[in-house]
Amino acid sequence: TTAADRSPDTAAGLDDTEAAYSPEEVHQEFGENPNEVRDTNHYQDEYIKGFVDKWDDYIGWEGRAASEGSFFIDQLRARGVEKVLDVATGTGFNSVQLLEAGFETVSADGSAEMLARAFHNGRERGHVLRVVQADWRWLNRDVHGEYDAIICLGNSFTHLFSERDRRKALAEFYAMLSHDGVLILDQRNYDSILDDGFSSKHKYYYSGDTVTAEPEYLDDGLARFRYTFHDDGSVYHLNMFPLRKDYVRRLMREVGFQKIDTYGDFQDTYGEDTPDFWIHVAEKT
Ligand code: SAM
Repeated sequence: TTAADRSPDTAAGLDDTEAAYSPEEVHQEFGENPNEVRDTNHYQDEYIKGFVDKWDDYIGWEGRAASEGSFFIDQLRARGVEKVLDVATGTGFNSVQLLEAGFETVSADGSAEMLARAFHNGRERGHVLRVVQADWRWLNRDVHGEYDAIICLGNSFTHLFSERDRRKALAEFYAMLSHDGVLILDQRNYDSILDDGFSSKHKYYYSGDTVTAEPEYLDDGLARFRYTFHDDGSVYHLNMFPLRKDYVRRLMREVGFQKIDTYGDFQDTYGEDTPDFWIHVAEKT
């Protein structure tokens, strides 16, 4: 099913046809009780065109390249990886980095909006991304082949709201990896937010001048973040599940990964030695 220009209205991988592509959507739909929206399928309604158009302002490709450095490329090269599946392509930042580093890369995502943007971003940099629309829970149905590595980056796994979905997704990743394959999955450091709280003076601001990203609501089952874009004042939200680091490590082990190393990203943005992100590197053998 790999196709460079797959039609964005092919909602392959979705179990809910209502979640299909809706280009006219300008407002995110969280209903009357946004803090009750705790649904794995809801990412489809969150990454609407307006937000996707802004996403690159948020992540900032240059700044991100500088802060990530060659960490992921080094991890992959050290393991002799050739084929990589980016399962959370988003607007394509990591896929483009991988292509430019010479890896054979397939770019998957459940969001047609995101993939369309990734494809466009790739073209602007002289690449033709091989994009596939696929939900992680049914990855093997829509993406074919075997990969030496799977990457799931940019705090994406947080979109899964039930343990069943997390186990299913990890099992699908495991199955698509070669016998000695590696999964690299990152997550925001929710332990520090859950344990220290955010309502105090301790503010969590990201991405400098152009965007403010801050938690708006938090409990054990929901981290709702607000993203304010300063150029036009637009505001978007993401509802995410606050994953604890050791919980994710345990799930990975239980699904079959043999060795899990977790790295802290010490590019801290709030003046302490607390990493913003954890990066799990999970090996099958
Ligand atoms: N990796 C990109 C980055 O760092 O900029 C994108 C990160 S964005 C926070 C999360 C991505 O995961 C979105 O593109 C979203 O569509 C995708 N996603 C969330 N849940 C998914 C699922 N169940 N199956 C497939 N993709 C999913």
